[in-house]
Amino acid sequence: MRLSEYTNREFDLLIIGGGITGAGILREGARLGLRCLLVERKDFAWGTSSRSSKLVHGGLRYLKEGRLGLTLASVQEREQLLAEGAGLIDPLGFLLATYEGDKGGRWLMEAGLTVYDLLALQWSHRHYGPQDFRMLAPHLTAVGLKGGFRYGDAQTDDARLVLRVIQEAVADGGAALNYVSAQSLIRDENGQVSGAVVRDELSGEMAVISAKVVINATGVWADRLRADMGGEPRIRPLRGSHLIFPQWRFPVAQAVGFMHPLDGRPVFIIPWEGVTLVGTTDVDHQADLDAEPGISAEEVAYLMAAIESQFPGLNIILDDAISSFAGVRPVIDTGKDDPSQESRDHVVWQESGLLTVTGGKLTTFRLIALDALKAARHLLPEMPEPDAETPALNPVYVALPGGEYLDERTRRRLLGRYGAQAAQLVAAAHPGELEPIPGTAALWAELRWAARAEAVAHLDDLLLRRVRLGLLLPQGGASLLPRIRAVCKAELGWDDGRWRAEESAYRELIRCCYSLPERAAIPDWRGMARKAEPVNDSWRWKWAGVLGGTAVLLLAGWLARRRKGVKGSCRVV
Ligand SMILES: Cc1cc2nc3c(=O)[nH]c(=O)nc-3n(C[C@H](O)[C@H](O)[C@H](O)COP(=O)(O)OP(=O)(O)OC[C@H]3O[C@@H](n4cnc5c(N)ncnc54)[C@H](O)[C@@H]3O)c2cc1C
Repeated sequence: MRLSEYTNREFDLLIIGGGITGAGILREGARLGLRCLLVERKDFAWGTSSRSSKLVHGGLRYLKEGRLGLTLASVQEREQLLAEGAGLIDPLGFLLATYEGDKGGRWLMEAGLTVYDLLALQWSHRHYGPQDFRMLAPHLTAVGLKGGFRYGDAQTDDARLVLRVIQEAVADGGAALNYVSAQSLIRDENGQVSGAVVRDELSGEMAVISAKVVINATGVWADRLRADMGGEPRIRPLRGSHLIFPQWRFPVAQAVGFMHPLDGRPVFIIPWEGVTLVGTTDVDHQADLDAEPGISAEEVAYLMAAIESQFPGLNIILDDAISSFAGVRPVIDTGKDDPSQESRDHVVWQESGLLTVTGGKLTTFRLIALDALKAARHLLPEMPEPDAETPALNPVYVALPGGEYLDERTRRRLLGRYGAQAAQLVAAAHPGELEPIPGTAALWAELRWAARAEAVAHLDDLLLRRVRLGLLLPQGGASLLPRIRAVCKAELGWDDGRWRAEESAYRELIRCCYSLPERAAIPDWRGMARKAEPVNDSWRWKWAGVLGGTAVLLLAGWLARRRKGVKGSCRVV
């Protein structure tokens, strides 16, 4: 069985958690020649890392809040990922409108965007007058529109990013097992953590894994393993939810950001994979962390009110939504009243040899991994010095077969998402499988390859995280299930009984957690939009302006040194 292969070996690193944080640490550890094993109790990227806004960004919002270190680290990582991960990380334009009554709106935004661009050593932003801006965002409300800005950021497929990082770590000698959970930690005679008792969730098999360093990369679940060491709870789980609309119904050619008229939080309308994402919310997550999170009726109303206030001409209604998804952010609790004020920095905590790495962003996964290895250094004296300039993603030098069936865009997509395995994926395609799955950019060949080679254990692994049909198509892609069944039968050996069980569990999952709640429970969002006042957020931009002025003076010299050995925005405790 899978686990027994690993029980008689001693590892340098046991990484618990298969989201982007664990994947990144596995990647950097394997690159350094460490013997690494990652265990994930559900599917790779099952947690927050498949439920993000899919942005690879500096986070203009963090700059507005004065978090210069986090923004700098993030924009530099964005630039690196854009350079290395074409087809998986791609540029995305953002639009920000200014309206009458936004005090000093244009100039303060200009200051903020100038700093944002300078941090990345680029000049991507540009101001447009009202007429030109309307061409860029034709459906945005024009009442009082004074113009607006366009600037550059980037986006990805978050779950595929996790998978590519894991795949490259495994190619370098790392090992990764999904559906294996850490049940408890074991300690040596000095009371230091020296491994974990793990359980194969598919077979029920238990095993002990020994390692010189155990890394707790369990995101929002991090307090559980820490409790084994007597650690006080420190994580504040904050839920963020999105609604998804078909692009023909909610057309945006680039992302549009604006302040929610009810509370001034940023809301983004994001084109992604042929659909439009609207998000996010930021609320305390009181539900059981073991259950799949879902959007609440109140969050639906909040996002619909935002749409109605900014895009009233589109007359978007609840029935237009294809799906929804929710993720829970691991944020370090400092007791702030407003969840959005809590820091998004990552932390590395050391408790009796257990290293907990949590918080942070998808964008900065490489920096988080390097910080984790730095913190593990005293336990691994033979470990080579991690190189801050290593690529996050391997260069891909493969010639894709597929001839005239694959256009340039599809080739780029396959190389970005599947890296060195893209050629095998194309070669494994059956006749007709280099065609896109209706309503998506994904090919049928991707589905077959994922089922064959990407550790799929359940139907939702395949349809929610390997290819994202469950998010992109109505009812989770129910109309395609007969053809998907044939692929699963051939590649996974699922018989009729197994298929029926998988299909029924998948349909229930889509109903409970990826659809909209009962209509009757959803508050009157049109009323909320009518009552809402435009939020004047200029004080924060003023802050950014002052900060920016100072930062620009300091940055020129600072950047040159930082580009050689960038540090994340991290607190090591
Ligand atoms: C709504 C939302 C939007 C976001 N948008 C962005 C964005 O646009 N850009 C960006 O850069 N960042 C974004 N983020 C932040 C980013 O998604 C997270 O910081 C990141 O995904 C956290 O990754 P992680 O690996 O630490 O946690 P997770 O992805 O949650 O991974 C932890 C894993 O540990 C596993 N696990 C738990 N307990 C055990 C155990 N005992 N044994 C084995 N495995 C276990 C879980 O199953 C889980 O898969 C967003 C976050 C949210 C919530």
